Amino acid sequence: MAENLDLKSFIRNVPDFPKPGIMFRDITPLLANAEAFGESIRQFADHFRDEKPTAILAAEARGFIFAAPLALELGASFVPIRKPGKLPFDTHAFHYELEYGSDSLELHTDAVGAGDRVLLVDDLLATGGTMQACAALSKKCGAEIAGFAFLIELDFLNGRENLLPHNVLSLIHYN
Ligand code: 5GP
Repeated sequence: MAENLDLKSFIRNVPDFPKPGIMFRDITPLLANAEAFGESIRQFADHFRDEKPTAILAAEARGFIFAAPLALELGASFVPIRKPGKLPFDTHAFHYELEYGSDSLELHTDAVGAGDRVLLVDDLLATGGTMQACAALSKKCGAEIAGFAFLIELDFLNGRENLLPHNVLSLIHYN
């Protein structure tokens, strides 16, 4: 029964990836199981249907995997946010600081606008920096935030605090 699926049991823990001391949460076993992958999309859709999002936004690459089927399920647009230089049309850019160095993401200027309610999706919430950048890009376009959806949340990093007071859903938690 899909309701009884333990989604966490489909996550593989890979020690020392990509660097020594990091426990990487590998989502590929969940993606390889149609029942588990489908159940994660259904849970996202059930939680956010009433928020009536008009567009599902995700940053490359793993966010795309969940955002595209969710957009189809909710009858909303799928909108990609990408690393610099990848999107062909006019873009807004957002630069943000990381622990070591900085990063940047881009969104087409006409991808969403005033009147859009965007749901932002990613595979994993750590510090929340990636999603804060995506939310800032959405706001530059004039869109409203409908919420944030994650397969996995690393609770001990408190990234959720950076996304409140919006509706934040994570299906799997690590303390
Ligand atoms: P944040 O910006 O919240 O600090 O980091 C979230 C980003 O890091 C996500 O886009 C996610 O893909 C990536 N990430 C960091 N650690 C992991 C991990 O252990 N597993 C997976 N699947 N992604 C991770």
